[in-house]
Amino acid sequence: MAQGRTGKVTLVGAGPGDPGLLTLRGLDALKRADVVVYDRLVGPAILMLVPPRVRRIAAESLGSHGDARQTAIHRVLIEQASRGRHVVRLKGGDPFVFGRGHEEVEALEDRGIPYEVVPGVTSATAGPAAAGIPVSHRTLSSVVTIATGHEAREGRSVPWERIARVGGTIVVLMCSDRIDGLVRRFRRGGLPASTPAAVVSRASLPNQDVRMATLGTIATILRRHPVRSPALFVVGEVVGLAVPRKRALPTPVPRPRRRRSA
Ligand code: SAH
Repeated sequence: MAQGRTGKVTLVGAGPGDPGLLTLRGLDALKRADVVVYDRLVGPAILMLVPPRVRRIAAESLGSHGDARQTAIHRVLIEQASRGRHVVRLKGGDPFVFGRGHEEVEALEDRGIPYEVVPGVTSATAGPAAAGIPVSHRTLSSVVTIATGHEAREGRSVPWERIARVGGTIVVLMCSDRIDGLVRRFRRGGLPASTPAAVVSRASLPNQDVRMATLGTIATILRRHPVRSPALFVVGEVVGLAVPRKRALPTPVPRPRRRRSA
């Protein structure tokens, strides 16, 4: 099937999880694909859009952690495309927002493999939106900072106090287990305890879960009512604009709940 044509890799951003938030171009690439290499963050509802004839490879199955897995992903993308296959590399949100997208592009460039990138709806803006939080606001917030909470693990450091001083809206991805530390650093940077803060978990998915609080109360609330990943942390006056219990995005069709066995 794939013989006799040049292979290529299309990096596709799958959006935050609701299949309605996948782009038309992304869907088109999935339909034309021979192979899809997908991240765990890509929800099952999106994977259901992949035609049954397409080979699926879970990126997670290619290596146990970080760099080793990343190198294995590059190897598979290169190998499959070199055999003439159209490979879709399906990533959560947008491939270039904390998605290691450029590392994959570089690896393909090095080997002269044709590629294209289909941007996705990033959770950094769609996550807050799903909870009714506008990341910017004409009078309340003219700066939006998107940061990774994983910085320490990867040897980089984010100047949290300086970000707090900039003000506006702060969105932290990969924030699980880091909320206490982040709150301390934002407070040290001068943000008052009364600053509205929220954690949005599984944004846009049927089991979306949101905690609305302030910098002073969010850590305690999360200890009492933990959320599951993926989740993001939003801090700033715009959080106060959210209308509780109202979804700003269309409500996805709920999937039937699996009953837990006793
Ligand atoms: N490229 C992705 C981000 C990858 S980093 C994007 O543009 O969205 C992974 C982090 O994204 C998670 O730890 C979480 O903080 C955030 N995230 C992704 N999907 C999410 C979702 N549906 N709800 C809440 N956070 C999400």
